[in-house]
Parts: sequence; structure tokens; C-alpha cells
Amino acid sequence: MATIGFIGLGNMGNPMAANLVKAGHVVTGFDLAQASLDLAKENGLEIAVSLADAAVGKDVVITMLPAGQHVLSVYKDVLDEADRGTLFIDCSTIDVDSARTAHENAKLAGMYSIDAPVSGGVGGASAGTLTFMAGGSEEAFEKAKDILEPMAGRIVHCGEDGAGQSAKICNNMILGISMIGVGEAFALAEKLGLSHQALFDVASTSSGQCWSINTYCPVPGPVPTSPANNDFKPGFAVDLMLKDLKLSQEAAQSNGAITPLGAQATQLYSLFSAMGNGGMDFSGIIEFMRGKKEH
Ligand code: NAD
Repeated sequence: MATIGFIGLGNMGNPMAANLVKAGHVVTGFDLAQASLDLAKENGLEIAVSLADAAVGKDVVITMLPAGQHVLSVYKDVLDEADRGTLFIDCSTIDVDSARTAHENAKLAGMYSIDAPVSGGVGGASAGTLTFMAGGSEEAFEKAKDILEPMAGRIVHCGEDGAGQSAKICNNMILGISMIGVGEAFALAEKLGLSHQALFDVASTSSGQCWSINTYCPVPGPVPTSPANNDFKPGFAVDLMLKDLKLSQEAAQSNGAITPLGAQATQLYSLFSAMGNGGMDFSGIIEFMRGKKEH
């Protein structure tokens, strides 16, 4: 069993760390928010007295933080405190450039590192069924696999440093774009007097099929578990989709990729969020196509 420092105990970090405790690891948590620390204590974590304390003498340090600037700032503070050869796993969703810088800084300090963003949301974090998309050396990945296992449904090694973040934002750019396409098709069907079920029965088994229609259909009825059946309660909120789309556009710009639909999707979700819908499930974007100003 390993000694693990877990930094960032929010909606995702707390249940992930709880699964590591259940698997028998000794987990020491740190967060800036007292409420997160209180919950972590209930989940069986030991509580670090400082950021440094979460890294001193640990086999592994895991971060689950909001953005690249938080990860780089935490790494700056803890890399000198940890023993050489400690494994650093960053599970946050951050920009690819910051992820690569975090790897470089970890290597300079003599550490192993992987970027390992996740999909599966808070439900997957609690159930221990997250998909991890990992980037880093084969050696670092081999060390990380057993640590990630109690939190994971699936673990994919995507390539070298930053490849996990690259896979995550490319996947979510597909999702953001495809959900808009599916929303437009159902909004058009409504104007044409075509029933939701009829469009679903055709498109979900023909060339229009995709996850956004087959598993997460944005109208009530055809897929009973989709958020459309529950007044678009998330699920995966508009603002989290917007964050990932913005990361995709930053990466496209800094690497010269042409992503016109990714750019359009970013603008549309940005507008939809500014209209007061940031906390709604992202499949609620269909309401925009219906011309609804407010949900
Ligand atoms: P959250 O805001 O609930 O948690 C982030 C935590 O980090 C907070 O508790 C905050 O206090 C803490 N924090 C910030 N700066 C810190 C610092 N310097 N030191 C210690 N703690 C610090 O966010 P979340 O929903 O848990 O998401 C975390 C990451 O996971 C994000 O990058 C997000 O994009 C990604 N993610 C979230 C979901 C989801 O459904 N919520 C799904 C997939 C990926």
C-alpha cells in the first residue's frame, strides 16, 4: 500500500481520495477550503497541516485542481518538499502547455510524473469508474496504473507528456460540436412536426448515430436516463463544457490547428452560459435552438 498526498478535495477530489482510502492506501489530503477538509476527514483521510505536509515523505502526490495556474503554483511549492523519485499524478483538466510545463518541472526536481485527466464526472468519481487518459513516460505510467485502479473504470495511456490532456480536449470538442448538431436536428424536427421518437429511431440506428443521440439524447423519452428527462439537471454542466472547449481553442491556436466548428461551439456555449444557463446540463443547448431565452 502507498502513502499518498491528495491536493484539491473538491467535488471530484474528495470522492476519488475516498476510494483510495477504501483500497487501503494511507491518504493525506490538503485543500484551501475548510468544508472540503471536514468532508475528507469523514472519508477517512488524514489532514495535512500545510501544502508541503501533503508531499513530504509520500510515495505519490495527486492533484485535482481547477486550472493550469493552480497546478503550476502547487507544483512550485511542493516539488522541493517531496522525496526524489516521488510519482506526481495530475488529474485536473488543464491546458496542454501547462501540463507539459508541470512535467518539465517535475523532471527537473527528479520526480516521475503523468497527466491523467478524467471523464465520468462526480458520479464516476464516487463509483470508482472514471476513465483516465494518461500522458507521460512508460515507466511513470506503469507506476501510476495500480494507484489509479481503485478510482478507475478504464485507464488509457495516450502517449508522452501532455497526451492525456490532448485526448481529453479533443474528445470533448467532438462532444460539444455533436451535441449542437443533435440539438439542431431535434429543433428542426419539432418545426417539421416529426416526433422525437421517430427521429431517434431513425438517427440512432443510421448514419446520424453518435453518443449525443444514442446515450445522451437531448429530448425527453427516447433515452430515459438522459438529463433532458430531468429538466436538464447536470450531468455535465454548460460551464464545464465551456471550460474544455476554451482549452481546445487555446491548444488549436498555439499549435496552428484549424477548428472552425470548435470555435463556433465555444462561442455558442459562451453565449448560452452568459444567458444564465452555466449550471444547466450541456445538452440543454437545444433550448437555444428552440429560441428560448431563459430556461
Ligand atoms: P472543485 O472546484 O469542486 O474543486 C477544486 C478544489 O481545489 C477546491 O476544493 C479548491 O478549494 C481546491 N483548490 C484550489 N486551489 C488550491 C490550492 N492552491 N491548494 C489546495 N487546494 C486548492 O472542482 P472539481 O469539480 O472537483 O474539478 C476539479 C478538476 O476536475 C477540474 O480541473 C475540472 O475541470 C475537472 N473535472 C471535473 C468534472 C466534474 O464533473 N466536476 C469532470 C471531469 C473533470
